[in-house]
Amino acid sequence: MNPFETCRSTRNRISVLLTLDDGPGKDFFRKTDFLHRRGLFAVFFCVGQLLEQKPDAGLHALRRGFHLANHSWSHRRFSDLSRRQQHEEILRTDRLIDDLYHSAGISRPGRYFRFPFLDRGDAEDAAMTRGLLVETGHSPLTGSEGPDCGFTFDTRDYWYPAKSQKLKRFFFEQALWRRMRRHLKTARREERAEVFVMHDAWGSHPLFDKTIQFLQKQQIVFLTAATLDRIPVPC
Ligand SMILES: [Zn+2]
Repeated sequence: MNPFETCRSTRNRISVLLTLDDGPGKDFFRKTDFLHRRGLFAVFFCVGQLLEQKPDAGLHALRRGFHLANHSWSHRRFSDLSRRQQHEEILRTDRLIDDLYHSAGISRPGRYFRFPFLDRGDAEDAAMTRGLLVETGHSPLTGSEGPDCGFTFDTRDYWYPAKSQKLKRFFFEQALWRRMRRHLKTARREERAEVFVMHDAWGSHPLFDKTIQFLQKQQIVFLTAATLDRIPVPC
């Protein structure tokens, strides 16, 4: 496809990739099914040790067309780990994800890694990890530089107030819609692709559902597995 054609056809519509970190948590099935019913794609950056406990969750996601990606084995800050531990965090999780793709009978479409807390460790360690990621075939997602995956908007759903705090929840949601509207307005002006991050380990599924419903009402093209590599080009 001619990328310029793509750009013209999506002018004023932003491309958004949905990503979910920290799973599989207790809402994982609910969230994957919610997205699947709406025909939406997402990349799930999973924590290896959680995925090891819930391989059925990983298989469930794969069979619904989602991508599984690497968010380290134990979700510790890389600054607190030795270089050997850092590399093991990546490689062990990658082996588990390989096994899940194999069990699902699906060939792994790409290798994606996101640092927990986006903490790459000190400069020397970060350079070594970068080398490891390149060597092992990891690539960035839309909008990222380097072999690890960042994001452009964080819903900060980990701060969503408890169920009993109804009023606080209401104000949290209102502030999030305002922040998203502002962010999308800027992204639309700059014609850039967006990577949204939400989280799976915080029991925040009511907010998750509302966030997806909110995004579906915006002028957005949701990236899919087939359009994951789409890079916005200047028109
Ligand atoms: Zn995380």
